Amino acid sequence: MSEELTPRALDALRRLEELRRADAPTHGGRVLSYVYDSGLAEIDEIAARAARLVQPVNGLDPTVFPSTVAMERDLIAFGRRMLHGESGVVGNVTSGGTESCILAVASARDTAGASPGAGSVVAPTTVHAAFAKAAHLLGLELVRVPVDPGTGAVRVDAFTEALREDTVLAVVSAPNYPIGAIDPVAEVAAATSARGIPLHVDACLGGWALPWWGDTPEPLPEWDFRVPGVGSISADLHKYGYAPKGVSLLLYRDRDRHRAQYFGITDWPGYPVVNPTLAGSKSAAALASAWAITETLGDVGYRGLVDRIRRATESLCATVDSVEGLRVVGQPRGPVFAVASDADSGTPIDPHVWANAVRERGFTLQMQPSMLQPDGTVLARTTHLTVTPVTETLLPDLEAVLRAAAEEVRGAPPAAPPDALAALSEAFADGSVSAADVLALPGEAVAGALAAAGLDPRKGTAGSAGEAGEDLDMATVLAAVEALPRPVTTRMLVEYLAGLLDE
Ligand SMILES: *Cc1c(COP(=O)(O)O)cnc(C)c1O
Repeated sequence: MSEELTPRALDALRRLEELRRADAPTHGGRVLSYVYDSGLAEIDEIAARAARLVQPVNGLDPTVFPSTVAMERDLIAFGRRMLHGESGVVGNVTSGGTESCILAVASARDTAGASPGAGSVVAPTTVHAAFAKAAHLLGLELVRVPVDPGTGAVRVDAFTEALREDTVLAVVSAPNYPIGAIDPVAEVAAATSARGIPLHVDACLGGWALPWWGDTPEPLPEWDFRVPGVGSISADLHKYGYAPKGVSLLLYRDRDRHRAQYFGITDWPGYPVVNPTLAGSKSAAALASAWAITETLGDVGYRGLVDRIRRATESLCATVDSVEGLRVVGQPRGPVFAVASDADSGTPIDPHVWANAVRERGFTLQMQPSMLQPDGTVLARTTHLTVTPVTETLLPDLEAVLRAAAEEVRGAPPAAPPDALAALSEAFADGSVSAADVLALPGEAVAGALAAAGLDPRKGTAGSAGEAGEDLDMATVLAAVEALPRPVTTRMLVEYLAGLLDE
């Protein structure tokens, strides 16, 4: 095949291979976030072949490309069974979790008849940032309800109190990303049903794992369509469905809520437009990959993979809890968990300094900042681990690394922000600078402040081979996020990421 390519084409592919060498490893379980490795080589191969078969297809018009309808119907049916939905449960395949969340909010807003700027979405502080994005895009207010810092699950009384006249949608997670706790879905559903407010369960993360989690050591609380008040559920195929990125499932109990998700227009001089999702023309590649994977794995395949994840998660949590100075937050019931400093220990370990020491030993964990909740309680800074089937094969190595890293950094001080940003933080504290001052600065000035703090997106980029961000010490970055007003840090990170693309 490759013999037929021209030298220029072969050269482009060779350069792409070179560029890919700068990327984090997507397979082998050494990166415990972002990537979901089934550990089955066949899964990657069928995903690639299925994507190739639909490569030129435009998923925009299912009447012209009925293969897309057939695959989407099968995935909806699989999801409906998996999530215990009745036959009337309907939905769509979307391009990912964020799009599923945005569409769930959009259809709720339009069903409720709220005009832009006039409604609210009520969700725990731990709800995925995709709902903040949805509220932002759709002109709604996101009301964030505190979770119990001990368990990471939202408190039902606080949630019930937060529901408002103008609430178009309530959202809970199964489980949430930052802590891995499953919110009390049934109790929240009782409260939202009584108020006539639809409830969305964000199972983007757990949707393709929890259905096979099993009954040990204690059954999971019910969180899917078995709970009467649950109106819609999102479940990402590109996470524990093991499909390549670009595919998620969004299901509704209410047919008309689903119809409200569609955008259609016949009042223009072009073809009649009827779009269930945000894109117009769209690839069918991830849809086809997801379809082929679910057809191959089926219920039995997923169950086997979940068994591996569950065993690995239980083992890792036990290991972390046995380390003096660290603790697992709450009782995670699913494939992700968070590690915090054990304040009760005489020798607490900073989870971010620990993550850096783990990284030096070849495993990448994900640092998460602390958060002040609206009720004044604080969610501690943590380090997140996403566990996948392949993790089990690495357990002895990984657990030895987690322990050795802890021994190395026990008693070490937490990471501090870069000097220039620590000074800026003092300026905020003494009132000589306000967040509004910084937000009003032109982008060039923000970029200058970043460069002064040693955060120059153009440094560390090795030509077009792109090793951008290589030198970024995330522990100091997150220390800055915690020390500065959050909107200021958002602005800085936007400037940094956008700066990666500048000349
Ligand atoms: C990943 C995730 C999302 C958003 O999904 P993307 O696929 O990254 O767009 C939403 N909710 C939860 C709980 C998630 O883990």
